[in-house]
Amino acid sequence: ESLDKGLEKTKTSFFDQLSKAVIGKSKVDEEVLDDLEEMLVHADVGAETTIRIIRRIEDRVARDKYVSTGELDRILREEIAALLEENNSGKDTDEFVLPANIKPYVIMVVGVNGVGKTTTIGKLAAQFHKAGKKVVLGAADTFRAAAVDQLIIWGDRVGVPVISHGMNTDPASVAFDAVKRGVEMEADVVIIDTAGRLHNKVGLMNELSKIKRVMQKFIEQAPHEVLLVLDGSTGQNAVQQAREFTKATDVTALAITKLDGTAKGGVVIGISDEFKIPVKYIGVGEKIDDLQVFNKHEFVDSLFT
Ligand code: GDP
Repeated sequence: ESLDKGLEKTKTSFFDQLSKAVIGKSKVDEEVLDDLEEMLVHADVGAETTIRIIRRIEDRVARDKYVSTGELDRILREEIAALLEENNSGKDTDEFVLPANIKPYVIMVVGVNGVGKTTTIGKLAAQFHKAGKKVVLGAADTFRAAAVDQLIIWGDRVGVPVISHGMNTDPASVAFDAVKRGVEMEADVVIIDTAGRLHNKVGLMNELSKIKRVMQKFIEQAPHEVLLVLDGSTGQNAVQQAREFTKATDVTALAITKLDGTAKGGVVIGISDEFKIPVKYIGVGEKIDDLQVFNKHEFVDSLFT
């Protein structure tokens, strides 16, 4: 239900344009497909992914000879779901789960300032904590005082420990201590916040690899997950950030925030397709419960119904 509400603007925009595209038409023809293409681009699906989706529908039209406009919304749903499936984005569950055989599971969270990184960490901590898991947070975004303070506030709110050395301290040393504490207290998950200074690309790369190296002194496979947080409401800017971050480090999962209040929700589809990195979480509001496990079928259903 909160997903429906969260995606309201994207949905309205999809619905309006899809309705316009098929008005007075019974058959999916070139003109309808042109309108459909425009609709997808408008929702920030991205040019290349839009073309892929249109091609797939064209193939179906060519194969079936006649496709009625009444079927278009179902076909579009199926094709988008297939694309998300191909890219391993979205589970068929709403549950926040951790791999059973890895303890502590270490998540390093990356992304530029303002995208909702700290909030997403707080929400994730809340969900895991609620599920009975032991959580440790590491405030390794030591570049900004506000980031450290905010993470501590989230930790207090959720009731989980936050490892912090304050501002301008060595982020790698914070990460080291957080993982150490995680091992000592037999935590299920350790979540490390990092600074996202994209304007200094080499600096960012070095900082992230140093954080990784130091954690690996404790746990060889750490981090098990590198979660990139992107602000979905920025549309193609988020795509650009994903390009930069995937060059700087091995990103293994995505969280796309602020999908509430934007008509650019299609960006989730485009990002998943361009980077072949699974979208794992979506943010649909500022409240503690407004983070969801990305469920592809629910997402697609929310866009069309
Ligand atoms: P950071 O600088 O990346 O750590 O960003 P913050 O976590 O401080 O978030 C920046 C702002 O975005 C805050 O006002 C958050 O409440 C807000 N925010 C984060 N996620 C969402 C979301 O999914 N929806 C909305 N509407 N706001 C969000």
